Amino acid sequence: MCSNVEDGTLVSMSRAEDEPLYLDEICKKCNESKVAVKLKFKEAQCENCFLAYVRHKFRASLGSTKIVGRGATILIVYDGRRKSSVLLDMLRFAFFQDAYKKLHFEPHVLYIDDSALFNLTDEQRNSRLQRIDVLLERFGFKSYGTSIADTSHRVLSYKEYMKSSVQNDQVNDLRAKLGPTVSHTSSNDYIQNIRTNIIRNVASHLNANFAFTSEIESDLAKIFLTNITLGRGGSVCQDIAFCDTRGNVPIIRPIRNLDIVEVEHYIKFNKIDCLDDEDVQLDDLFEKSLQNVTKSFVDELQSNFPSTISTIFRTGDKISGITVDKNCIVDEGNCTFCWSGIPSQKSETIQALEYSRFVSENVSANRSNFVRERSVDESKLCYGCKNIFKDVSMT
Ligand SMILES: [Zn+2]
Ligand SMILES: [Zn+2]
Repeated sequence: MCSNVEDGTLVSMSRAEDEPLYLDEICKKCNESKVAVKLKFKEAQCENCFLAYVRHKFRASLGSTKIVGRGATILIVYDGRRKSSVLLDMLRFAFFQDAYKKLHFEPHVLYIDDSALFNLTDEQRNSRLQRIDVLLERFGFKSYGTSIADTSHRVLSYKEYMKSSVQNDQVNDLRAKLGPTVSHTSSNDYIQNIRTNIIRNVASHLNANFAFTSEIESDLAKIFLTNITLGRGGSVCQDIAFCDTRGNVPIIRPIRNLDIVEVEHYIKFNKIDCLDDEDVQLDDLFEKSLQNVTKSFVDELQSNFPSTISTIFRTGDKISGITVDKNCIVDEGNCTFCWSGIPSQKSETIQALEYSRFVSENVSANRSNFVRERSVDESKLCYGCKNIFKDVSMT
């Protein structure tokens, strides 16, 4: 058995390649079925006990916070990939259960078409939209579609969206903003924020009380580390929280306590069809970004030291608690792009960074003029977003 010493404890590795060693055992929980999975720090389990455990974990995180009330309208963000498929399937399971266990809510699903970012032909885009349509059918929820390039935030039923085309000027506008001189880090940060704003706006348009997104433990570890490096430490509390209250509609992350091994087994045992891994992804587009470097680092930890991921995530959660108390005092209002609070006092690190930027911008006069021409009011942006708009072309 492959094992690894972490935190002074001998930990069984729960990666797929280790599983066959447990397969002859009988599940100790039900004493009936054969073991199908061994998760770290847990007894080996059969498929049914595993699914009951993961679903319970999901229900418990939703239930214990009591944030989502009975009858709430929720917008579930779906991208066709494994994590959002798990979220949607868990909600479907809870929704179609008997009256006692049923989750009472009004579900809407949103697909954000990001084909405008990639050089997809109409045929490739249509083929992807059709594939998503087939995948969505399985869940039976009311679904909607919108484009990442659509600044008017038009939202159509998914079937209508499939027939519509993204307007050329909107695609060109988005591509121009992320031109060749814009760093991959700023482009990535810009797109992530645009995406979040679309989620909030569509949720608001559909009168949803909450939006549900599908980040898991390792995603939040990546977001936590990345946003610290991007100077977004002051708002990292919201970035990894169960409920992100920025903007007009709160965003809930109901599966943030799941890890990638649980996601993979949930997909496997339920035989859920998802978009192929080789399908184009945002991470490939902004290869040279800080976000991608952090992602590679966390992915490597996931392979070699999986317990470290939850240590980073839990540490982030604890630090966030402290940050909320001391630094998230919002005296300067909220950032008009990411809706984070703008603290009245800048940290010494940010002051030093701003000074350094000021000096380098004055060295390059052209660059400085370019910054001044912008239409974005910098005083209403947080430090992280100021950095995006210094880079992304807004003229
Ligand atoms: Zn069992
Ligand atoms: Zn901001």
